[in-house]
Amino acid sequence: MKIINPSTEEIIKELPEDTAESVQLACKDLSKGQKDWEIQSIDYRISRVKKFSELLLGDIDRLSAILTSEVGKPLVQSANEIKGAAERIRYFIENSKWVLAERIGHKEQGLVEKVTFEPLGVIANISAWNYPYLVGVNVFIPALIAGNAVVYKPSEFSTLTGLEIEKLLQEAGVPADVFRSIVGGGEIGKILLNLPLDGYFFTGSNKTGSFIYQQVAKKMVTCQMELGGKDPMYVSERNSNILLLAQTAAEGAFYNNGQSCCAVERIYVHTEIYKEFLDEFVKEVSNYISGSPTDDGVFIGPLAREGQLDVLTNQVLDAIEKGAKLELGGKRMDRTGFYFEPTVFTNVNHMMLVMTEESFGPIIGIQEVKNSQEAVELMKDTEYGLTSAIYTEDRKEFEFLGKQMSSGTVYWNCCDRVSANVPWGGTGNSGFGSTLSEEGIKAFVKPKAWQMKYMK
Ligand code: NAD
Repeated sequence: MKIINPSTEEIIKELPEDTAESVQLACKDLSKGQKDWEIQSIDYRISRVKKFSELLLGDIDRLSAILTSEVGKPLVQSANEIKGAAERIRYFIENSKWVLAERIGHKEQGLVEKVTFEPLGVIANISAWNYPYLVGVNVFIPALIAGNAVVYKPSEFSTLTGLEIEKLLQEAGVPADVFRSIVGGGEIGKILLNLPLDGYFFTGSNKTGSFIYQQVAKKMVTCQMELGGKDPMYVSERNSNILLLAQTAAEGAFYNNGQSCCAVERIYVHTEIYKEFLDEFVKEVSNYISGSPTDDGVFIGPLAREGQLDVLTNQVLDAIEKGAKLELGGKRMDRTGFYFEPTVFTNVNHMMLVMTEESFGPIIGIQEVKNSQEAVELMKDTEYGLTSAIYTEDRKEFEFLGKQMSSGTVYWNCCDRVSANVPWGGTGNSGFGSTLSEEGIKAFVKPKAWQMKYMK
């Protein structure tokens, strides 16, 4: 496998890929290792995870450099991601024990009904490259704490990071037969689907997720899907600080070069403030500094994958052909690397791909709406349902509109954020199941009911 730096297009490393045999062998080892791991105390497992988090933070500069070299995100964003991952781990360290504690359901003379939580066994964590630490820890940390073994399949675009995670977990005391990272692309991931594993936790595109779900269905094991989105934002006329709003919206759309599952992908603005918002938005985006992700101050680096340049170009051509107005950008940058200009469209509608298909890049469509009801109809006109953001200074307006959204998350005056305190998951084509919070800990265990009667 060739690892390519998306900024320089140079091959930075060549690695041997796993094979069907090596993957099968790894899963056999994990199956044995899991049994020993499960009987360790939860305190011990938590202590190993805590150590892993310390090792991550202790090596943050080197790990950020590796992440940036393979996915192209600015160094400061790589470091932010690792710090964010440590924060999420802290949540799991502080909350797993009480969530997984045995619970008495009912007690009376001569009868006890209780529930305990047992690990699933060996689970597959097939993961994405855009936030490999964050989306990784959502799965493998609670899985390990609950006593599962994990076969981790990082994306082929973040393999070096996947191998670092494996190394640090081992250094932290998670045995090699409890966590294994495998190297390869989709074909190697596919091998996992035919092995007798006990759960499949996938983060990635709807297309791959739907394939995996179908393959796994016949096994009757747990399957969770964290997929893409086409997340909308509504900007109500009940706003006074338009400059701040435009800056926040632009960051939500362009952070990590738009390659976030919950990036703002389409914006609807009330006609009363549309012009002012648009001016500030375009001004903000044109001030973004593009360049090598290792240079100070750079906000827009290269895309991680060369192929996405074609997806974005296609959206641009489609939008222009259907009458959209290009306000900014619109093409691949004239330089080495997979760089695309930050792109803003107006005069858009839902006949255009830019308003309906996940872009996963630095491109946004802004549509003027007459009122909030029109905004709600447009926001809901999608097969996806990850997040929806509503900006208004009127909380009642937010609550009225927020209730009408069918996405997994609704945001009030914020966007493009994930918190470990609440469940993370989508509806419709954005997937099903939850990671994070209490729900995201329980996802990795099966409840066992004990109904116990005392014989005299
Ligand atoms: P992808 O679907 O291309 O790949 C995801 C993983 O699946 C990779 O590890 C890949 O090697 C593997 N894979 C590919 N084909 C496979 C197959 N046939 N069988 C088994 N495994 C296979 O997605 P990606 O490009 O890595 O990630 C981007 C997508 O992920 C976007 O749509 C984004 O929105 C989504 N995402 C969602 C969340 C979320 O929390 N909802 C978080 C991050 C990313």
